[in-house]
Amino acid sequence: MSSNIFGHQRREPLKKALAIRKIAFTEIYESDNTVDVQQQASRCLSCGSPFCEWKCPLHNPISKWLKLAAEGKIIEAAELSHHTNSLPEICGRVCPQEKLCELACVLHDTTGSITIGHIERYVNDTAFEMGWRPTSSPIRSVNKCVAIVGAGPAGLSCADVLIRNGVNVVVFDKHPEIGGLLTFGIPSFKLEKKLMVQRREIFTEMGIQFQLNTEVGTDISLDELLCTYDAIFIGTGTYQAIRGNVPKKPIQGVFESLPYLIANTRHLMQLPTPNDEPYINLHSKSVIVLGGGDTAMDCVRSAIRQGAKQVSCLYRRDEQSLPASRKEVVNALDEGAQFHFNLQVTQFVVNEQQQLTGVYATRTQNGKLENGRYQLELIDDSTFFIEADAVIVAYGFAPHDQVWLNNALIKRDKYGHILANRNSPIPFQTSHEKVFAGGDIIRGSDLVVTAIDDGRNAAEGILLFLGV
Ligand code: SF4
Repeated sequence: MSSNIFGHQRREPLKKALAIRKIAFTEIYESDNTVDVQQQASRCLSCGSPFCEWKCPLHNPISKWLKLAAEGKIIEAAELSHHTNSLPEICGRVCPQEKLCELACVLHDTTGSITIGHIERYVNDTAFEMGWRPTSSPIRSVNKCVAIVGAGPAGLSCADVLIRNGVNVVVFDKHPEIGGLLTFGIPSFKLEKKLMVQRREIFTEMGIQFQLNTEVGTDISLDELLCTYDAIFIGTGTYQAIRGNVPKKPIQGVFESLPYLIANTRHLMQLPTPNDEPYINLHSKSVIVLGGGDTAMDCVRSAIRQGAKQVSCLYRRDEQSLPASRKEVVNALDEGAQFHFNLQVTQFVVNEQQQLTGVYATRTQNGKLENGRYQLELIDDSTFFIEADAVIVAYGFAPHDQVWLNNALIKRDKYGHILANRNSPIPFQTSHEKVFAGGDIIRGSDLVVTAIDDGRNAAEGILLFLGV
């Protein structure tokens, strides 16, 4: 790292040696030292109009906590970062900063953006290690109780804001640990699972109650919740895989991304795996991952760590259109993934035992521009065969079937998203006045940070509804 007339250069967070990280389901970044973090934080120019804060969906007071970090005031920085964010140590790890806060940094085109996400992570990790804990300390306790359905980022953030305002909160989740996809979907090389255990302990100390291993609609009905609680927040996410042109009939060797990632995490956490979502080990297999988002990158990198012989990511558009976070693509490339662009799988090939042996793929090109996006055209006579033992489909997610919502007069769109938004007179209220919703279940698959934003704003809507 050097300095010039603009000050110090951006210093990229250090990663563990490739040989180690390619085989380990542990976070890939080395621990930082305080001197480096202070130096990087002190690069902030404290602009009069900090674009980074506008670009952050939570409008975090970034420049203020960078200043505190630069002065070595770690606990004060962590305290401040919790004013606008319920899970800052998580966002520091999983936000696509290069599309959000760090893209907007005025140093982006000179000495390089401040490493905002990395400093956010360091500040909060270090404060926790020092024994600091966020507390709820409500101004007053109110005699209201809210049920949260789903312990993912939206539900947890909603619970965080409510408990801080003196509302009793009970969070229901079907999984044995909180976090939703933070725990079971995002692999531990991006987000170690002990962080969500720590978060559960922190939230529990703040007064939030958790009823885990409890599925609404199976173990407890929505009617019971409606009778018992003053309001309900639904943040159950989207878990139904979009299958594109993948045949409906099951093929041995073709897997959906989320069940693959969830079962792998359960295996690593030594939790039992349900019979319908067994652990899939891709050791020594030739693997193709279909899709180009962050979930596809998670599958690619998980398969590499399982010891797959070869892992290729096939994306039907060009490289510039790849929706995955750039840093995840770089990590996947470093770890040995191969990328193939403008390729559309058109046929799955099986042997007599109905076991996958490969796919036919056809080259694509941009066709007509419609609604700002090129329609894809298949190029004639460009189809060829690619051998594969396994294909993971990571085309994205839609709302899953939640039968328990059907009789509750909660309106949904034709895709199954619950209708609720921030611009309603009571933000995030659904067509049932006691029921609120936020996160992926209303907006479709999106970022962790936008789910947090929804959850926090829905809590404000609930407080308005409760008259608190
Ligand atoms: Fe950047 Fe995400 Fe943190 Fe906002 S929450 S400052 S976008 S890393």
